[in-house]
Amino acid sequence: MITWNMHAHTTVSDGELSAEEVIQRAVDEGLSGIAITDHFPFPYKPEEPVDWTTSRRVFERHLSALDALRQKVDGLEILKGAEVEYVPSLDTLAHWLEGLDLDFVLGGAHMLDGWLVDWSEEVFCRGQKIFGGFRAAIECYYEAVGELAESGLVDSIAHLDIVKKYNPDARYFNEDEPWYHQAVEHCLQRIAATDVAIEVNTAGLRVAVGALYPSAWILRRARELGIPVTVGVDFHRDYDRVSAGLTAAEKALRAAGYDSYLIFRGRQAEALSLGR
Ligand SMILES: [Zn+2]
Ligand SMILES: [Zn+2]
Repeated sequence: MITWNMHAHTTVSDGELSAEEVIQRAVDEGLSGIAITDHFPFPYKPEEPVDWTTSRRVFERHLSALDALRQKVDGLEILKGAEVEYVPSLDTLAHWLEGLDLDFVLGGAHMLDGWLVDWSEEVFCRGQKIFGGFRAAIECYYEAVGELAESGLVDSIAHLDIVKKYNPDARYFNEDEPWYHQAVEHCLQRIAATDVAIEVNTAGLRVAVGALYPSAWILRRARELGIPVTVGVDFHRDYDRVSAGLTAAEKALRAAGYDSYLIFRGRQAEALSLGR
């Protein structure tokens, strides 16, 4: 049974509930542990509709508040995490992360050359124009993810195939096409050559695409390549559960041949068994 959620947002970034409220929900829903992983940091561009992230100053204060909550809350382990953004200059990311006392760092690519991958369907479609087609945009996305893994700055890759978010019924591209398989395969090979995990993220179950990130065939291939996994709900909304989709994630992991998942304390991995 999966009793940890390694991906949750609070009002410090784009979540609707405070850390205290998210943690209370996790207790009420019977979780053993939760990683609070607010977006941090992000290079703002005023012309773009980006308001999901936070400054270093606010983030540091937030980490201290999590320390205080740890003292207060019984029966739930609280991990201090961050969901960091792919930026073309990864030295900048290294600099942002320096000196932060974090248990767990998720890495995600949400924005490439001004293309916001998972913001809205309309904005997703702009990728076609920016890159000269969805194929080029998506290939660029998987390149960025590979680079992020190789940087050694992150512990796990968030929502690996988030590019399918606005692609229900293969509306814009087809996952079965050879070029897509190649882009994913190349990215997985790069991840497999590092110690970085990938995330099974349940947020896709709650949007039109109605599927976990990543797709079952990608998870199977990741297993073959020996890539470990973390499991995250990507909790944001008041109306969702902090443990939403964990049963489905467990089923998908077993089907792909996994018998454990990772949690991270002080950036060190520990494998937890899925049990019988
Ligand atoms: Zn994300
Ligand atoms: Zn997230």
